[in-house]
Amino acid sequence: MSDSKAALVTGSTSGIGLGIATALAKAGMNVTLNGLGDAAEIEKTRAALEREAGVTVRYDGANLMQAEACAGLVEAAVGAFGRLDVLVNNAGIQFVSPIEDFPVEKYNAIIALNLSSAFHTISAAMRGMKERKYGRIINIASAHGHVASPFKSAYVAAKHGIIGLTKTVALEGATFNVRCNAISPGYVLTSLVEGQIPDTMKARGMTREQVINDVLLAAQPTKEFVKVEQVAGLALFLTTPAADEINGAALNIDGGWTAQ
Ligand code: NAD
Repeated sequence: MSDSKAALVTGSTSGIGLGIATALAKAGMNVTLNGLGDAAEIEKTRAALEREAGVTVRYDGANLMQAEACAGLVEAAVGAFGRLDVLVNNAGIQFVSPIEDFPVEKYNAIIALNLSSAFHTISAAMRGMKERKYGRIINIASAHGHVASPFKSAYVAAKHGIIGLTKTVALEGATFNVRCNAISPGYVLTSLVEGQIPDTMKARGMTREQVINDVLLAAQPTKEFVKVEQVAGLALFLTTPAADEINGAALNIDGGWTAQ
């Protein structure tokens, strides 16, 4: 077994997940990437990170809409590196619509990926972490895990849910040196946010500029998007000894959004 820690980051082919995977790899951890996307692009990303960080980076394309795929992802990651020290549940999607028009299949998909996939990966990882008396589980929630916005019923429900899941797992792992925390970012300009701009324009009858300034950044007092590297820095901190007594927390990184 390698001396290096091993990390698994779901939804790490782009955005926040890729940023977190990069930070963990550069800190010396072997990393399993996961997510969807163009195979050639993903291989380029994987190889570049492996080269830059000087660790082993593997990719697993498990589609996390299904419980079995989530368990399989964890089992393959443990099998590849002989251990799993850090599990980051980051994969997520968004859909914006008034609730009376919200397609039920979109609701189900958001709950499946943004909430249930974290339950399934944690369930699959927990026994090994408890046995090894080490585990750092980080769930990427959102400011929408604390407060709501209209037209995001499924997302807000899932993100509130994942904070509850985080607290429960924190209690179950507490005496086994397994920590579980959530990170709650405000708006980060990734493809997930880009993707909801047209929907919000339609739902609210606004221009792109109006959506960015009057909707997305309206509640973010700093009037800045949070940067991927800042979320990744917080995630990396949660894997260091200085964070050993942080357990069951949902840490805001939102420019003051939820201080209001
Ligand atoms: P993103 O769209 O850039 O990344 C999402 C990742 O999830 C991608 O790697 C994608 O391939 C993967 N994914 C999508 N469907 C999948 C599936 N079925 N199985 C496996 N992987 C799948 O988005 P992002 O903004 O980086 O979002 C990452 C997380 O951060 C999400 O949980 C999101 O809710 C959360 N978040 C984002 C923001 C923001 O403003 N961007 C704010 C708060 C929280």
